[in-house]
Amino acid sequence: MGLFSKKPPCPICGGKISWFLPSKIEGEYICDACYGKLDMDADKESKLTMQGFREYLAFYDQNQILKDRFVVSERIDFGLWDTKIIFDYQNKLFCMSKNPDKTVFEGRQLKSFTIREDSTPLFEGSSAGIRRYTSTVTERAMAMAPQIAQLAASKRMARTLDRLDDGKVNNSAPVQYFDIPEPFRAFNVELHFDHPYWTVLKCDMDGPRFDNTLPDVNNYLRAYQQSIEEMDKLVAALRTVAFSGAAEQSVGSGMGTLYTNMAPPADAIEEIKKYKALMEDGIISQQEFEAKKKQLLGI
Ligand SMILES: [Zn+2]
Repeated sequence: MGLFSKKPPCPICGGKISWFLPSKIEGEYICDACYGKLDMDADKESKLTMQGFREYLAFYDQNQILKDRFVVSERIDFGLWDTKIIFDYQNKLFCMSKNPDKTVFEGRQLKSFTIREDSTPLFEGSSAGIRRYTSTVTERAMAMAPQIAQLAASKRMARTLDRLDDGKVNNSAPVQYFDIPEPFRAFNVELHFDHPYWTVLKCDMDGPRFDNTLPDVNNYLRAYQQSIEEMDKLVAALRTVAFSGAAEQSVGSGMGTLYTNMAPPADAIEEIKKYKALMEDGIISQQEFEAKKKQLLGI
């Protein structure tokens, strides 16, 4: 007895297989040290064969050379979950970690990237250029100012009344929670690769939040500005390692661009029909009709 649970050694390195929940590839147990080297798209990992794993390990050894060479020039922090991207400008490398201990990418392996505020584009970049869209977050936050000021005032009033009542803060007073949603939840960053083991890497950075005890639009906008500076830093870093020749271009809002690509709204068409009738009746001139048509179509 005693040997019945003994597993064969790791087929890759001959090392010991973990007794606790060992990892498997194609039904064969792999030691933790070998399995720990895996860093690839989840769908590629799920289809990995033993032969594919051996090929990956050759790639891993090659990548070790880039890890050893890596000198951190820039570090972008994604906050909450401690996600970081580090860049090496000299060697045009980057890595999604705080140290070059995961797959190190060469800038030329990056095909494109996008940064969105929820689903609205903020940046799009590739060798063809970097597009920066106008964000509407600032104006949307500012439009909320009266609502927020009103809530803050009613909270102050409630607190004052509370103190007048018995001279102490009364915890039984109804609490007003601030539950107005922020203009957007998160910056969604997507990196698209031309790479044997990576197609896309996605990471989020939470957008700023209102303080729900004392919401303030100016505080929100200051926090937002800081996040935008971090995104600018990220775009500049990606451009340095991957698209150094690419020109930056400011375009309208991401929403606006999507909108102008679509058919004009139905009511604009209806309006044009009305003006056309006026022209046909001789009430307005052809020139006046053309001008109105262009205005309604936004062209
Ligand atoms: Zn092993």
